[in-house]
Amino acid sequence: MADRALCIHGHFYQPPREDPFTGLIPTETGASPYHNWNERIQAECYRPNAELGNFARISFNLGPTLCAWMQSHDPQVVWQIIAQDRTNLDRHGVGNAIAQAYNHTILPLATRRDKDTQVAWGIAAFENTFGHKPQGLWLPETGVDVETLSVLAEHGIEYTILAPWQADASTLSVPFDPTEPYRVYLPQGSSIAVFFYHRELSTMVSFSPQATTNADVFVQTEILTRFSPEKSQRGESQILLIATDGELYGHHQAFRDHFLAHLVNGASTNVGIDKTYPALWLRSHPPQRSISIHEKTSWSCHHGVLRWMGECGCTPEYGAWKAYLRRAFDRLAASLDRVYVETAGSFVHDPWALRNDYIHVILGNLQVDDLIGSAAGHRLVEEDYRKVRLLLEAQHERQRMYTSCGWYFDDFSRIEPKNNVAYAAQAVWLTRLATGIDLGPQTAADLSHVISQRTGGRGDRVFRRKLQRVERK
Ligand SMILES: [Zn+2]
Repeated sequence: MADRALCIHGHFYQPPREDPFTGLIPTETGASPYHNWNERIQAECYRPNAELGNFARISFNLGPTLCAWMQSHDPQVVWQIIAQDRTNLDRHGVGNAIAQAYNHTILPLATRRDKDTQVAWGIAAFENTFGHKPQGLWLPETGVDVETLSVLAEHGIEYTILAPWQADASTLSVPFDPTEPYRVYLPQGSSIAVFFYHRELSTMVSFSPQATTNADVFVQTEILTRFSPEKSQRGESQILLIATDGELYGHHQAFRDHFLAHLVNGASTNVGIDKTYPALWLRSHPPQRSISIHEKTSWSCHHGVLRWMGECGCTPEYGAWKAYLRRAFDRLAASLDRVYVETAGSFVHDPWALRNDYIHVILGNLQVDDLIGSAAGHRLVEEDYRKVRLLLEAQHERQRMYTSCGWYFDDFSRIEPKNNVAYAAQAVWLTRLATGIDLGPQTAADLSHVISQRTGGRGDRVFRRKLQRVERK
């Protein structure tokens, strides 16, 4: 009998809500009776799903910046989540948790070096939390291009999950079939497996609460009917993968934590549907076919990745500022990199490897001077340590300023884009402290084109305010 399996993937993520200067989350009135949204989502989603054991029965990624917050706020829930992945690892040799690119950067819009750092940092953070290597990695907004997949493969990642419209089916000799994973062949002879999620089912679970009130009914009417009888007759296995924003289970939609629990541990298993996750499925069902992907596409913009770089139908009215913000940051990033390589490069052989290894400092597992000293191969004088230290901090801020949430919404006058501008201001300030080079005027000039059409708020004014605040620190 051919396998018929169901897999739910939950993408668990929150943009960093901390004030970039204090590191604390301000009181958020909308989150009442809780102090802020993280606390509210913790109570409505993370904690109940952990207590129900759901993290053992689905595929999931837990955003590293969210995970760091949870570890300080409510570590017990993180331990439960880790233990639930561990049960699978012990039983099957592969876990069900997967990594995520560290700062939720739209990777197809990032330089190759940034892709490399984001993936290296995401893997290191995953290993630090879960204690083993990840097989899979979640691409923020499922943003993909061939270069991104190549970087994943270079880092030993075996698979990712994409939307079905990201598959380029024109290269197939048979109809595209999302009930099986595909292999994507990459330049330099490597390859990676891709699971494409089921479009209708994922949309239904995400956006049609009336369809998910009863898991038994859902399985009978929606799941069972979507397996192909022809494939079953031919003895071919099938997996239905439903990819969702994990916070819908209990937070966006009340009681769906219980729906999820019964769906994967009762409603589906009672009728002979296995529950699985991609790493486990791949062990006995390697891809039989290869496919290409559509370059620069994502799951939450139907205009490729335009949502994070300009005006598109997703945020039609007020999107003009997005292109200017990205252009300003790209120019700042190039300048920061030039200063970093010129300065750090005179002490260490490979400043990019040093930047990748800096994650161990961010995670608190390594003293920064020990890292710098070992990269240099000898001890430096204090002044040189200081310079490299500050420039590494600037590189961290430079990664944070690309957090995708800064471009997701329609308006510039929101906390997410302003936080990204604050990270940029911190990078500029740290670079000035380290080297005396002032990238502020250029950045302010570039950001003067970033204008909120709703409030008239301007990027350069926000930038100057943030810079003044950090200078007073
Ligand atoms: Zn769009």
